[in-house]
Amino acid sequence: MAGKPGFLWSLLLQKCPRCRKGNMFKDPNPWNLKSTLKMPTHCPECGQLFELEVGFWYGTAYISYAVTVLFCIFSFLLWFLTIGFSLTDQRFYWWMGINGILLIALQPWFMRLSRALYLYFFVAYNADYKNTPPKTFDYKSEDYFLREEPPKPKA
Ligand SMILES: [Zn+2]
Repeated sequence: MAGKPGFLWSLLLQKCPRCRKGNMFKDPNPWNLKSTLKMPTHCPECGQLFELEVGFWYGTAYISYAVTVLFCIFSFLLWFLTIGFSLTDQRFYWWMGINGILLIALQPWFMRLSRALYLYFFVAYNADYKNTPPKTFDYKSEDYFLREEPPKPKA
């Protein structure tokens, strides 16, 4: 377990994009619906701020939509290649039903995945995260976004 943690694996496990070690979500179980979207403000491992600006997570609605569409395409293809479709029986409707149930069942995990994907888009992996300050949105002022105590960069 040495070296750089894999991108895809870290993403699927919803690890912090910067250090790929800290968990983005407090509760390891996404199906615990009361805490599905509860996140620490900063990465417990490297101090990266997660909600980069106020309302940052609103953008995840688009990601969530894309993830849902991709999942439907994937399940459609999988069904097509294994079970197949026919005009003379109900197989298409079975796919629609099962796909719908899966979508609902996986929704909490999809919501987390969307947030992780979104944050991965803005924050790059940094192997030297222990010695460098976390990524900020500093087009206004750093203080504006760093509402809580982040680890101070070395002077
Ligand atoms: Zn981190």
